[in-house]
Amino acid sequence: MKIKTLLLALMLLSFAALMVACDVQADYQPPILTNTSSIELETISESHKDYTLNIHYPVTNQLQIDDTLYSFIVSRIIKFKDDLLDAYPTNGTPIEGHYSLDFRVVTDTADAIAIIFTEKARLGGIDVYEERHTFNFNRHSGDMVSLDELFSNSPDFLEIISPLAYQKLLHSRNALEIDPVWLQEGTLPFIQNFNCFTYQSDGLHFIFNSGQIGQGHEGAQEIILNASDFKNLLSLNTQAFSKNYRPIIKPITEPELLPAANESTYFEPPALVATGKADPDSVHKKRVALTFDDGPHPKFTTQILDILKEYDSEATFFMLGNRVAPNAAIVKRVIAEGHGIGSHSWGHPKFTALNEYGVKQQIQLTQEAFLAQTGMKPFYVRVPFGRFNQEIQKWIDMPLIQWSVDPEDWKSKNPQKIATHVLEHVQDGSIVVLHDIHGATVQALPAILKGLSEMDYECVTVESLLGITPKGPKDQVYYKK
Ligand code: ZN
Repeated sequence: MKIKTLLLALMLLSFAALMVACDVQADYQPPILTNTSSIELETISESHKDYTLNIHYPVTNQLQIDDTLYSFIVSRIIKFKDDLLDAYPTNGTPIEGHYSLDFRVVTDTADAIAIIFTEKARLGGIDVYEERHTFNFNRHSGDMVSLDELFSNSPDFLEIISPLAYQKLLHSRNALEIDPVWLQEGTLPFIQNFNCFTYQSDGLHFIFNSGQIGQGHEGAQEIILNASDFKNLLSLNTQAFSKNYRPIIKPITEPELLPAANESTYFEPPALVATGKADPDSVHKKRVALTFDDGPHPKFTTQILDILKEYDSEATFFMLGNRVAPNAAIVKRVIAEGHGIGSHSWGHPKFTALNEYGVKQQIQLTQEAFLAQTGMKPFYVRVPFGRFNQEIQKWIDMPLIQWSVDPEDWKSKNPQKIATHVLEHVQDGSIVVLHDIHGATVQALPAILKGLSEMDYECVTVESLLGITPKGPKDQVYYKK
């Protein structure tokens, strides 16, 4: 009986597919699978006394795709380590953490790549999260294809997908455990309910992570919307995966960032070429960018500036907008002495907990504070806690500066430990994160600068290390040179 039903369903399905195929308004063009996959596997594995980390990720050899995936992975590692630190008891034995990230390539064609990551984290013997993350790329351009883009011919697609998804999930194999009220909420026609999807040969797969449509740890649920489900109601923009397609760039509406009075009031990077006396030795000198977050601080930032001057070194200060006006003289001194200024938001909130308006406000208020006090404004940002997603990145619309060396100065508050960590982990092109609000960081700085100088490093600003300018691309995320 079951087999008969299945056969009937299959027949109906192929009939529907046939109908669609004959229709001019074809709903769904499945990706044509290529058998010449060039996707390689990379592994990151760490084993420490308080945590283990195991990551597998794909390398496509398409630069933009690989950059996007790598940025995602690094941001997830940082999140896990943040969570581990948050759970760290002030006294007693450290808790144990396990992190794993695995992937499946579900579409691999000449035009499209779709990948599902499965992420699991355990802290102190408890599964704290299990989450799926999806990526759909146009293989030629390397751009990610969003759901908006895929349904650009059907602006009200969410209104159609939402009830379809609700019905499918309600009748899924776990239907008995499903709470209809919760399910309804998790399938409401909001884009964030449907962001986890993949474009596959049998249709669009939507994944609902645990907690979205039900309580706790019942795991992710997946549904397929195929051609028969669309029923001429929806038309997919499969062009989004074709060769010369560029994504639709939506105009940013309010609030607009305050423009600088003129272009020259922007902070220009040191003009190495313009001086015409490039030191031949400096070509081979290793470079590192020291960065200080969360200031300016009336006492510690001043001390740090004195030490940097003594060692003839440059650094970058990621300042909080709400500290700019009360410490205007220090901000001016930072600029006058050739250091970099970056925005670290207005008040250090978690950007992932804010909406578009909230994020833009944090950025705009900070830009205005800098401009009012100094006539200049930063052209790059370090997101509080280093936590962001693609949407937030678009809202900020400036290069994001993460880091590759983190001595956790705020945690250890041990000058010796801070200096040793930096000197042991630094590489040519590293970005080091420090905080100019702790005495221990100030005490560690002379040893750091002395050590770096002995190892033949030059300390430069972020813009000098990365070669970024106010007019350069704004969609980059940097962890190191
Ligand atoms: Zn911070």
